[in-house]
Amino acid sequence: MYDVIVVGARCAGSPTAMLLARKGHRVLVLDRAEFPSDTMSTHFMHQSGLARLRSWGLLDRLAATGCPPITEAVWWYGDLPIRGSAPAYDGVAEAYAPRRIVLDAMLVDAAREAGAEIREGFTVRELIIEDGTVVGVRGRSHGGQEEELRARAVVGADGHRSLVARTMNAEVYKERPSITVAYYTYWTGLKRGYEVYLGNEQQVAVMPTHGDACLIVCALPNAEFGRYRADVEGTYHQIIEDTCPELGKEMREHGQQMEKFTGTKDLPNFYRRPYGTGWALAGDAGFHKDPVTGQGIADAFRDADVLSTALHRVLTGTGEWDQEMANYEETRNQATAALYEFTCLAATLQFSDRMRQAFTVLSYDQAEANAFLGLVAGTTSVIEFFSDEHMGGLVERSKDVGDRELTLTRQAAATG
Ligand SMILES: Cc1cc2nc3c(=O)[nH]c(=O)nc-3n(C[C@H](O)[C@H](O)[C@H](O)COP(=O)(O)OP(=O)(O)OC[C@H]3O[C@@H](n4cnc5c(N)ncnc54)[C@H](O)[C@@H]3O)c2cc1C
Repeated sequence: MYDVIVVGARCAGSPTAMLLARKGHRVLVLDRAEFPSDTMSTHFMHQSGLARLRSWGLLDRLAATGCPPITEAVWWYGDLPIRGSAPAYDGVAEAYAPRRIVLDAMLVDAAREAGAEIREGFTVRELIIEDGTVVGVRGRSHGGQEEELRARAVVGADGHRSLVARTMNAEVYKERPSITVAYYTYWTGLKRGYEVYLGNEQQVAVMPTHGDACLIVCALPNAEFGRYRADVEGTYHQIIEDTCPELGKEMREHGQQMEKFTGTKDLPNFYRRPYGTGWALAGDAGFHKDPVTGQGIADAFRDADVLSTALHRVLTGTGEWDQEMANYEETRNQATAALYEFTCLAATLQFSDRMRQAFTVLSYDQAEANAFLGLVAGTTSVIEFFSDEHMGGLVERSKDVGDRELTLTRQAAATG
């Protein structure tokens, strides 16, 4: 009998298990994957998620894997560059875009080192439910016999198609259909940092990752999936040609594509009620959203922290299940509400007139550019940035073209 069984060993599952094991609980993690194992992701880890990794003692370990730190971003809106750095989050200034084959294996190792039992290559087929309470799981290792494994609580950290959530009919709310479709692959030979190109209903992002490589992802509105279905490679390169032809030229002249294209149109947006009697959800299983703002990994880390604390209180008799789980849900929803709305809006790949005007100011006002970049890093309040007062001020200033030209002239002079 385990204290907790965690289904899924990636960004939500392994940290949840690690933190519970560090508190002395008997934890079993089951994943059908065998690590190191890759998964679909564009890898961007913002400062908020990295701060949590540091608090677990794992940020230095990630840095030591050779993943290049990202200290500057350049977002392009047409010919307007928004260049800068998100304000530091709890002292963490850099971002990273680690290959998931590296990050996820590191998280599994950390959970195992903490004392969690990890069974890779084990598929959970169903939950054991007695009197309406989840008391364990049934499943099997590759080629093995079916086994029954029991625990005081089962955590579904099993991704957005979560078996745990589906079996328990977890209530879904704030649901929106898939908004974008995105395909990516890796390139070497390019001299590129972290760049985002905001095009007309299309978007390109470049992420420097392990192995002197860049991940380049190209997104379209989900309704245009037919373009990708007809021709993934042609569509990918056409988006780059339309949005950032200079990058396309460099890719043709110096780039080598490392791997085949990966992508999906299955990017739904929803919250699930993340608990019931004997079960809880963490990460994508409980809250899934478009990857355009790159929040999934940091959200999974926050869930791991908050949920493991709640479970610890229940397991040690210092908290009641319903109250602790209600607090967990409330904490998650409060932390994510504004960024969820921003994510769904950003995923339309369209910009209001107000935003277009604001981009003008962001291109020459360093503090405003940094604040904009801090929206996705968790260091700028979405509500304050998009308040009428702040956006109205940016729009007013955008009319002052003289100010912009003066600043650009000064910048050009300063950089020689
Ligand atoms: C195209 C794309 C780009 C993205 N880009 C970013 C980004 O740049 N930054 C960012 O922060 N996030 C990004 N995300 C989101 C991020 O990848 C996820 O939020 C994150 O992986 C969620 O982690 P998780 O542990 O909750 O779930 P998952 O990563 O989905 O892991 C679930 C695990 O559960 C296991 N599992 C499932 N069912 C079973 C079962 N029945 N039995 C045994 N094991 C099971 C699976 O094998 C898997 O290993 C992106 C996602 C996509 C699709």
